[in-house]
Amino acid sequence: MLGWSINLFRIRGIQLTLHGSFLLLLAYIAWEGWREAGLEGAAWSVAILGTFFTCVVLHELGHSFTAMHFGIGVRRILLMPIGGMAEFESIPREPRKELLITIAGPAVNFAIAGVLWCVVGSPSHWSLSSYEADALGFAHLLLHWNLLMGCFNLVPVFPMDGGRIFRALLATRLTYLRATFWAATVGKILAVIGALLAVFWWETYLTAVLFLFIYYAGEKEYRALLRRELIEAHWRETLAQFDAIPPPEPPVIRPD
Ligand SMILES: [Zn+2]
Repeated sequence: MLGWSINLFRIRGIQLTLHGSFLLLLAYIAWEGWREAGLEGAAWSVAILGTFFTCVVLHELGHSFTAMHFGIGVRRILLMPIGGMAEFESIPREPRKELLITIAGPAVNFAIAGVLWCVVGSPSHWSLSSYEADALGFAHLLLHWNLLMGCFNLVPVFPMDGGRIFRALLATRLTYLRATFWAATVGKILAVIGALLAVFWWETYLTAVLFLFIYYAGEKEYRALLRRELIEAHWRETLAQFDAIPPPEPPVIRPD
């Protein structure tokens, strides 16, 4: 499924890619807008979706540019209906660097919300579904959305930003593998609680699917790290065995 994607353009060498399923979301949103208010409704809905996802890209660029500042290559930013994902060539094992790269994403959302707040002020009521369909309503919707996105990403569910921050803080005291194990374990418990709340309390099945996806992603990243650590340990042992072998005696040459 991940193979079905469309490359859009590059930003400072980073490929921006749209996952195929994103087009289904776009078509669904446009159709919903059309049903409500015809062509104008469809255009308005697509504009809102486009702006939301522009903020998602800016969030991922926050992570990416900070990573590039530390010399880490960024392969691409993949946009999916559930959000964006920046793919790094490596993840730094230095907690300070991981902390700064991670914080940079939500910081972009809070910066956008802060600028909008200064320009248009805070909305009189906070409800995503009831902002006016005009420029001021749109600005308030965008402000609200960026605050939500910044806060949601800070929930400590690994491998979301909050979970990565938690892992980086744990890694200042534990080994990188143990820190990842605990961050992933806490993340999985919270993801299950989040999925149950989404189904039985908020009744939003898409959020439940999102939490299950996060659960799976956390487990996958921990297992990948575990595998890499085991391979590295194996090589260290093998090389140590070679070091333990005494060098061959030099040949003794006797004159006849
Ligand atoms: Zn992020």
